[in-house]
Amino acid sequence: IISMENVSKHFGDFQALKNVNLDVALGERVVVCGPSGSGKSTLIRCINRLERHDAGRITVDGTELTNDAAMEKVRGSVGMVFQQFNLFPHLTILENLCLGPRRVLGLSPKDARDRALTYLERVQIRDQADKYPRQLSGGQQQRVAIARSLCMEPRILLFDEPTSALDPEMIAEVLEVMTELAGSGMTMIVVTHEMGFARRVADRMVFMDQGEIVEVGPAEEVFSAPKSKRFAQFINQIL
Ligand code: ATP
Ligand code: MG
Repeated sequence: IISMENVSKHFGDFQALKNVNLDVALGERVVVCGPSGSGKSTLIRCINRLERHDAGRITVDGTELTNDAAMEKVRGSVGMVFQQFNLFPHLTILENLCLGPRRVLGLSPKDARDRALTYLERVQIRDQADKYPRQLSGGQQQRVAIARSLCMEPRILLFDEPTSALDPEMIAEVLEVMTELAGSGMTMIVVTHEMGFARRVADRMVFMDQGEIVEVGPAEEVFSAPKSKRFAQFINQIL
């Protein structure tokens, strides 16, 4: 459902992605890890065109991302969850969730609300619907952010370090929701250093370093027998 062929991305003279090749199948769960600055965020931001790649081809859900008009076609297919939850502070949880379905998908107020409540239920937070983001814990806010993405009913969900802004005791509840989502067959690319989650959930692990995909393979395989020295060192550091 996603194909990246020889994708490169520069910021000025600096090359953040170097000839990246990655195909993701429908329903696949891919976890991306690697040191700070290795290009993980840039990689997933190119998939939803928050960044434009400057060489190679990216195809998402059957459409090649050649320009912004092409992205408009697939915008609804791709959802994204960020490290910072990016909820609107002046809107209630329910209003945050209804915004996209109302404005972008043109749902009626009732349909948007029903859908929002369904997904709030799914992330086990329906009772917080009428509160404001600041009244929720970080873990709850991130679950709301996930529900907000789900309200757009995307075919692919991208996560950029969804738990790294959270206090340790809240990480588990967010990972639990993500694990449940993975079990439901959602196509997911998750940038995270939560290696326990990666082992449980990832069909494939991708390790990036200095803008390159250095290692990729089934989670079992790459963890038990890393092929590259850099990945072996990385695993040692974070475990
Ligand atoms: P982290 O783990 O810290 O989030 P990352 O692997 O996500 O790191 P990226 O954010 O993709 O790394 O950045 C890759 C490189 O590209 C970094 O060296 C970064 O400084 C550079 N970079 C990213 N965005 C920009 C930008 N908008 N302008 C200039 N350089 C950028
Ligand atoms: Mg990043």
